[in-house]
Amino acid sequence: MIIKENYSLLEHNTFHLEVKTRWFMEYSNEEELLNILHDEYFQECISLHIGSGSNLLFINDYNGIILHSAIKGIEIIEETDTSVLLRIGAAEKWDDIVSYAISNGWYGVENLSDIPGECGAAAVQNIGAYGVEIKDVIETVEAYNQLTFEKRTFNREACEYGYRYSFFKNENNDPHIITHINLRLSKKPYFSLEYANLKEILNRYTEVRLENVRDAVISIRRQKLPDTETLGNAGSFFMNPVISVDQYESLKRKYPELPSHTTDDNRVKIPAAWLIEACGFKGQSHGEVEVFNKQPLILVNLGNATGHEIALVAESIRTAVLDKFKIELTPEVKYVG
Ligand SMILES: Cc1cc2nc3c(=O)[nH]c(=O)nc-3n(C[C@H](O)[C@H](O)[C@H](O)COP(=O)(O)OP(=O)(O)OC[C@H]3O[C@@H](n4cnc5c(N)ncnc54)[C@H](O)[C@@H]3O)c2cc1C
Repeated sequence: MIIKENYSLLEHNTFHLEVKTRWFMEYSNEEELLNILHDEYFQECISLHIGSGSNLLFINDYNGIILHSAIKGIEIIEETDTSVLLRIGAAEKWDDIVSYAISNGWYGVENLSDIPGECGAAAVQNIGAYGVEIKDVIETVEAYNQLTFEKRTFNREACEYGYRYSFFKNENNDPHIITHINLRLSKKPYFSLEYANLKEILNRYTEVRLENVRDAVISIRRQKLPDTETLGNAGSFFMNPVISVDQYESLKRKYPELPSHTTDDNRVKIPAAWLIEACGFKGQSHGEVEVFNKQPLILVNLGNATGHEIALVAESIRTAVLDKFKIELTPEVKYVG
């Protein structure tokens, strides 16, 4: 177990924010986690479990305990002619799992290539890209209830997955800490290639193979997303809003070019990037914060921005979109502090 006091979180958030936590604790197995959860001092403090901080915005120093898992490992726990069931430690890097699956010829996660973060968080967030979400391959999630200390194995239904949503994100539920995720991947070829630019890039290859899909996804992402190594950011700052058909039709009359996508429950998803660009924010800088010039859904730390400054820019975007389109943007990024 690693315990640090007044510890810098600079290496633990992709916005590159210079914030500190009062305590940082990293456990390497379930027994160590249970010891922390049972500790009276821990129970008195505020706490937050993080992964690699690629979806967090620290507004201030954190006056509590930041928890982090070091539980790693990939185990094949079941294998049939058609599928394989993997048990994966929450601290494994998500993209390492994608790469491992592809090198073994297992299908289902290739469209989720190159998404930053760890496996525990991926299951919290229901990460998604190019028409695929992690929920499509999740069989179960193993988690401890932070208040009752009970371990529970959630099947997919119990995870209550929705767009960037899960049981674990619902603040009305007891906080849970994920230790392992269990993914079922297919040994039989199948691809999800509906996304126009993915299809277009794959047309350049003579055949569609797992490796080609991964390469295509990575090349599309690298063209439009900032590299977190050099430019602090947390990916999409806002979720794409979902509105009623009535509201969509009335907006479409006023803005005929408004892009949209119908959801399974017959509502309409609007790209938040389009709304932000239509309000004139794309490429604008406000002090040390830039609305990324290639993708306005991303806020970038140009060097010395604080979390508070990033939150102010996000708030002015939210207000402008609300005024112009009467659409409320909800942050995808989690505010801390
Ligand atoms: C450049 C860039 C591109 C991105 N592209 C995408 C994309 O295409 N699709 C997409 O969906 N996301 C995308 N993201 C967002 C981000 O990568 C995901 O949300 C990712 O799952 C976050 O993982 P993390 O380990 O960094 O988690 P953190 O940001 O550290 O935490 C995220 C949430 O998970 C909780 N959490 C973390 N670990 C655990 C655990 N073990 N148990 C319980 N709760 C836990 C945290 O409390 C927090 O609520 C992108 C981010 C960046 C920076």
